Amino acid sequence: MMSGTPHSLTLSNGTPIPTLGLGTWQSAPDVVGAAVKAAIKAGYRLIDTATCYQNEEAIGTAILELIKEGVVKREDLFITTKAWTNEIAPGKLEPALEESLKRLKTDYVDLYLAHMPTAFNDDMTEKIAVSVEEIWKQFDAIHKKGLAKAVGVSNWNEKQIKKALDLNLTPVHVSQVELHLYFPQNEHVAFCKKHNIIVTSYATLGSPGRVDFQLPNGGKLEWAPAPQDMEDQSVKDLAKKHGKTPAQILLRHTLQRGLTMIPKSTNEARIQENHDIFDFQLTHDDMAKLQGTQVSQRLFLQDFMEGHPEDAFADERLKK
Ligand code: NAP
Repeated sequence: MMSGTPHSLTLSNGTPIPTLGLGTWQSAPDVVGAAVKAAIKAGYRLIDTATCYQNEEAIGTAILELIKEGVVKREDLFITTKAWTNEIAPGKLEPALEESLKRLKTDYVDLYLAHMPTAFNDDMTEKIAVSVEEIWKQFDAIHKKGLAKAVGVSNWNEKQIKKALDLNLTPVHVSQVELHLYFPQNEHVAFCKKHNIIVTSYATLGSPGRVDFQLPNGGKLEWAPAPQDMEDQSVKDLAKKHGKTPAQILLRHTLQRGLTMIPKSTNEARIQENHDIFDFQLTHDDMAKLQGTQVSQRLFLQDFMEGHPEDAFADERLKK
């Protein structure tokens, strides 16, 4: 390992979190098990899933098989899952986590995230006006029961996170947000640093596969046209300079920003490629070149939150 390239960061509760994990959104149950096995054999120790990815069961099976084969121990792994919008509704969180634990075949998760700050009913036809403070009280309770070693949020804005912190209960250990070359989240990163919260980047590669996402009802989401991070000229130039791929440059840039990340792949070669980022270093000038990008475009607008009293991106929508 080169200096300044940690394989893990430390959460405010003192436990390590791997800087690189495997993302599994859009990884179907019939392929995710092989991806998880390839990742763990390649050296990944963090697996990121969520109830709404509908693949916890297959991930749990793959992990259990590896543990039985002696490839890895449960305590060496860091499993993250997330409560969907119906699971953060009043009284729903603990039973929801119990169900996730059963599917994942484990007694605890290393990190449990509120996937969104907005509660809805089961089929998302009704908004439930629960405050982020009430949501966080449920996370505090499951943390105190030991069902999740760490707790955090995803897609919450800074004001919402501050409200959770001001309760003086369990602190927010992690904030998982969209973050990539073309959406660098500098303010969010500074806020989290100030409050000792580890940031996890999602869509670090620019989520090129998002356009293929199918809703459970077979429908498709509309995605605004956006430039592709892996096609960025500076990224391509640095890839050539360092003998690496554009994906590796994007991941390495994120690593050197002091963040954690969870690139998704179900392709064994790309899973390995995304892990091969600990053997080179971007120079100060390389980093400055990448930090200087003028584009800042959110890809994941989470439009379903619009009109909800806890819509995290309401201010951004007003500016459009
Ligand atoms: P991403 O990791 O930026 O991109 C994944 C896409 O890039 C897939 O289509 C993958 O295809 C492709 N890919 C992977 N490695 C590659 C490489 N080396 N070269 C070229 N293409 C490559 O996007 P993401 O999946 O949207 O985000 C990552 C993870 O973050 C998710 O899987 C999920 O765990 C999490 N996430 C969380 C939220 C949230 O609301 N909290 C939202 C979105 C995502 P192949 O599989 O074919 O390799």
